[in-house]
Amino acid sequence: MSKSRSVLVVGAGLTGAVVARALAEQGHRVRVIDERDHIAGNCHTRRDPETGVMVHVYGPHIFHTDDAGVWDFINRHCEMMPYRHQVKAKVGGAVYSMPVNLHTINQFFGTAMSPHEAERFVAGLAEHGPDAPHSFEEQGLRLVGRALYEAFFQGYTRKQWGVEPSRLPAAILKRLPLRFTYDDNYFFHRFQGIPREGYTAAVASILDHPGIALHLATSAENLGAGGDDHTVYTGALDRYFGHRLGRLGYRTLRFEREVVPAPHQGTAVMNYCDVDVPYTRITEHMYFAPWEMAGFDRSVIYREYSASAGAGDIPYYPVRLLDDKALLQRYVALARQTPAVTFAGRLGSYAYLDMDVAIRRAMDVGSHLLAAFAAECAPEAFVHPV
Ligand code: UDP
Repeated sequence: MSKSRSVLVVGAGLTGAVVARALAEQGHRVRVIDERDHIAGNCHTRRDPETGVMVHVYGPHIFHTDDAGVWDFINRHCEMMPYRHQVKAKVGGAVYSMPVNLHTINQFFGTAMSPHEAERFVAGLAEHGPDAPHSFEEQGLRLVGRALYEAFFQGYTRKQWGVEPSRLPAAILKRLPLRFTYDDNYFFHRFQGIPREGYTAAVASILDHPGIALHLATSAENLGAGGDDHTVYTGALDRYFGHRLGRLGYRTLRFEREVVPAPHQGTAVMNYCDVDVPYTRITEHMYFAPWEMAGFDRSVIYREYSASAGAGDIPYYPVRLLDDKALLQRYVALARQTPAVTFAGRLGSYAYLDMDVAIRRAMDVGSHLLAAFAAECAPEAFVHPV
């Protein structure tokens, strides 16, 4: 075991908690601070005071992964309950199955095609540009053709990202499967679940170690120079540098909460793909906990609105348009010249990370720091490839 170091971790979300735990388990002293009054960052869950339903306060979070190591890790910190995410989509007054699957295609075209027939049919609709698809729009048109693209992707994406899909990277659409079967599981990973007592309890368990001291409602800016051996910063990369090169683009979300008789919409998430409906989706939280659902006669729903994040807003999604990427490279260069700080997590590396990827990357950061501490050298600035 190497000499004990004192490390400041800024941010008590998944990334901060996983790094803190890895360091504390090897005998280092870790202070974790968060400016909010709760842990777990944007996967924070709490019981709705009026209905008792466990609410995903910052929007739907479903744990899904193919990474057995990450799955083992999270299962050591909570009881993962079986959960299969199913999403419906409203388009032009009708409800369809999501992600686009054989049922969606047959519903939309009023057909009864077999898997092979549907695959041939959709291949015939596909619009191919001369080059490999770069943008979300090119990817969508190539994948499903114009009619399905305009119905299911174009309007939702304009609302979610606030720009034309022709300016967005194709990678965003690659998150969604297209299936020529009736499988409507939103994800295609081997492991999927939701913690019985919510994500906040899981993160509390990760942070529960004698080597970790947690300070909530404490921001890094107000802390002053702390004399720590190293800092792990999981806040926004541009914020750390006082936005001195300009602001990276983020989308923020606003939720409109309403208590309604249970059940309300009959599923956890209903997407609203039409551009003239101002919200992107409605989440009915009790469906995230099917093991508790029988107990509720009132239900809580959140209507979700997406907007560009201003100075005082919580950043949710990194936008990653071309301009952002150029600016990001300049911030990454600054980060590399700041070896006393490791930047990590969704905001620290300006990446659209699912929870499992956030955990895996945080484990990598932990290993990197432990190796540097053991070698008695300052950790090289560690910034994940962007
Ligand atoms: N998307 C869409 N229509 C839908 C659902 C998703 O066009 O009904 C697009 C949209 O651009 C979104 C992206 O696919 O940002 C990824 O969707 P996902 O459900 O993974 O988004 P998240 O739950 O992370 O917000």
